[in-house]
Amino acid sequence: MKRRRMPSSGKYVFITGGVLSSVGKGLTTASLALLLSSRGYNVQAIKIDPYINVDAGTMNPYMHGEVFVTEDGGETDLDIGHYERFLGKNLSKKNNITTGQIYFSVIERERKGDYLGQTVQVIPHVTDEIKRRITEVAEDSHADVTIVEIGGTVGDIEGLPFLEAVRQMRLEAGFGNTFFIHVALSPYLPTTGEQKTKPVQHSLYELRRIGVQPDAVVVRSHHPLDGEAIGKIALHATLPRNNVFNSYDIDNIYRLPLLLEEQGLARLVESRLFGRSTKPDLSSWEQFVGLYESASRKVRIAMVGKYTKLRDSYLSIVEAVKHTSPYYGVRPEFVWAESTDIEQGKLEAGEVFDSADGAIILPGFGVRGVEGKIEVIRRFREGGKPLLGICFGMQLAVVEYARNVLGLKSAHTTEVDPETPHPVIDLLPEQKKIDRMGGTMRLGARPVKLVKGTTLWSLYEKELVLERHRHRYEVNLSYLDKLQDAGIVVSGWSEEGLVEAIELPKREHPFFLATQFHPEFKSRPLSPAPVFSGFIRSLAGV
Ligand code: GLN
Repeated sequence: MKRRRMPSSGKYVFITGGVLSSVGKGLTTASLALLLSSRGYNVQAIKIDPYINVDAGTMNPYMHGEVFVTEDGGETDLDIGHYERFLGKNLSKKNNITTGQIYFSVIERERKGDYLGQTVQVIPHVTDEIKRRITEVAEDSHADVTIVEIGGTVGDIEGLPFLEAVRQMRLEAGFGNTFFIHVALSPYLPTTGEQKTKPVQHSLYELRRIGVQPDAVVVRSHHPLDGEAIGKIALHATLPRNNVFNSYDIDNIYRLPLLLEEQGLARLVESRLFGRSTKPDLSSWEQFVGLYESASRKVRIAMVGKYTKLRDSYLSIVEAVKHTSPYYGVRPEFVWAESTDIEQGKLEAGEVFDSADGAIILPGFGVRGVEGKIEVIRRFREGGKPLLGICFGMQLAVVEYARNVLGLKSAHTTEVDPETPHPVIDLLPEQKKIDRMGGTMRLGARPVKLVKGTTLWSLYEKELVLERHRHRYEVNLSYLDKLQDAGIVVSGWSEEGLVEAIELPKREHPFFLATQFHPEFKSRPLSPAPVFSGFIRSLAGV
């Protein structure tokens, strides 16, 4: 068992959840990561997802929210996106650990005979693999501290091996090198006006039943908690009151780190793990939050896609818009336009056009809602309001142009109509051979060569940029001459000569830009993505 690596020198914060999922563990993790890194520590953040999928790539965004794409081509949980945005650095696909990955490795090793005749069991073999993966991230990145968020809620059957593994890590890494934070919801009952702490208490008992005593509790609540509720929770958590923190509802998620800093969460963690208490440098973050909260001029952005009923499906795009807007003094208002409704005549593309100052044509897959998106693209192109197309949004902008400007009425992407006589968007030959769906798209960061003199160039002012991808289909190069003759400008190319971005010249349209890559995945509050800056600036008219 040479591959077994035990936590030796690392320092770890483990974040568990109670009462409900989606209670804000991800943002707590991201906030703490920022607070520690702004004290000068090298911080890593890991998300554990106890589901059996190997990664989030094959999951429907309706159930799970957006699939986030890392620089190294991982298709991960959306929390990795929060971590990157708060930490301001790229994380690896290895920072998202799932049950699927763990069992994949353990079973593969068993088949190779690596276990030398042993009975392979959850304890120790599965738990060892969990610890090995956590430790590997910490060691490879030379992290001073690694924050590990365990997805789901204590008491979930599938989360048990992970909780057991981190319980063991406390013993192995040492009490002084580990810190457990439990994040749980305290509901408010509007009928009686009561703040209920019982669910938090029960989740604390559940945590202790499996051998974990938290060092701090972060209570999520609607309103700020009063001293009585804090005291009750502290008592049941067997903690001093100062170790109970309150993350109440706020409009701006980027304020959360400041709220937790005021309450001293990072100070407590730092003094346990590093034996000192230093001051963070949060000045740029505070400045950004100030801008964000003072921007008041509204811009309305139509968000055109087919998963609009679950807003988390487009989380990184929403966040990219939100954190770019303050720099231009505007506050975005999202006008969600379900493209299936447009197709079915329940919503008019004209209404979408009238109700918004600009539109984002969102990424996507498959047939449903496609004609609705194309109709909206036509309106915004002809009507001269800013339009940003992302991935599928770019492909459909090409289809729309081929149909309505080139006059190729039946032009389509072969993803939707494999028999179209004008496949302006088509699969690459190497994608045609693929029969496994998981992890086989064109994924992760790839170089994009920008064309001088274009809008895209003016946004980056660089010849070569690295942007992230997640797609199978491409602009069909045999239609390129016709498209360009008809006015489409290709403003970005891949190294293999594939189309990475198209636009219309400024004299034809104030802002019409669509990218095959996903600029949203690299956009951060302190360094917004140039493509979003261009779009928002054109909306703000500054
Ligand atoms: N469905 C398209 C493709 O696979 C676009 C994917 C996307 O928008 N992420 O190429």
